[in-house]
Amino acid sequence: METLTTVAELRETIRGRRAYLKRIGFVPTMGYLHAGHEALMRKAREECDLVVASIFVNPTQFGPTEDLDKYPRDLTRDQELCRRAGVDMIFHPDAAEIYPRGNDTWVNVEAMATAACGAFRPEHFRGVCTVCTKLFSIVRPDRAYFGEKDFQQLQIIRRVVKDLFLPLAVVGVPTVREPDGVAMSSRNSYLTPTERQAARVVPRALALAQELVARGEQATEPILAALESLIAGQPMARVQYVTILDPETLAPMRVLTHEARLLLAVFIGKTRLIDNTALAPKAPPPPAV
Ligand code: AMP
Repeated sequence: METLTTVAELRETIRGRRAYLKRIGFVPTMGYLHAGHEALMRKAREECDLVVASIFVNPTQFGPTEDLDKYPRDLTRDQELCRRAGVDMIFHPDAAEIYPRGNDTWVNVEAMATAACGAFRPEHFRGVCTVCTKLFSIVRPDRAYFGEKDFQQLQIIRRVVKDLFLPLAVVGVPTVREPDGVAMSSRNSYLTPTERQAARVVPRALALAQELVARGEQATEPILAALESLIAGQPMARVQYVTILDPETLAPMRVLTHEARLLLAVFIGKTRLIDNTALAPKAPPPPAV
């Protein structure tokens, strides 16, 4: 397994193999890898004959008061996890390699990037879409793997790929969770042991929503109110948003006429955690005969 740091090197290394490769898989990450990232890599390994992973803490997707400087990094450990997961090449550029002096091009998705996280992180998806488009253009993968953990990101990237006719398939991979239900995240490392306990309120909120829908609730407002009140019962937690959206357009849904997506962002102390789940309305009973 090689670790390459420049665009030229990576392109050159892939170029030699492209002719005899049927499928190149690509897993973009910000590093500090865990079993969630590993699931993406293993899926890519199953489906592709070359697997490239990038490790790049993308500065343009962080707001001015966010955690860019303290974002956890550990390249040696990440290389070990990539090797175990069957990655062939790591791309680990620095910021100047991806955003050289004079960089002035941005990829912007409009409506979908103003929903959910976008309302609180105004430049975030512009940074994500720009870096992913750059990375797709450098690696030229046949398939790119993204986690459902970042559902809004996954759907926005699908939109970019469609709208720009990029020649690759976007593959979504289900969220990998800790045994107590908390979604794996590099940012979980910020949590103190008591905060980590308190974070359980997040998967509990998802489960409560599922339960209300299973009991037949179709209106989203009472579901959202029940989640707000559950989370308010955990003193270390503060809701940033909780919303139920159409999974394709990310427009708010008032009634569960079809499968929806519940998305939320919750601060546990100073750490912001996001999570989401599908909400499938109960099928109406079959007509009596
Ligand atoms: P990140 O390094 O946090 O930018 O994440 C890189 C990729 O891994 C993204 O596509 C994430 O959605 C995905 N990912 C992160 N955490 C998880 C998880 N717990 N389960 C599945 N995928 C994840």
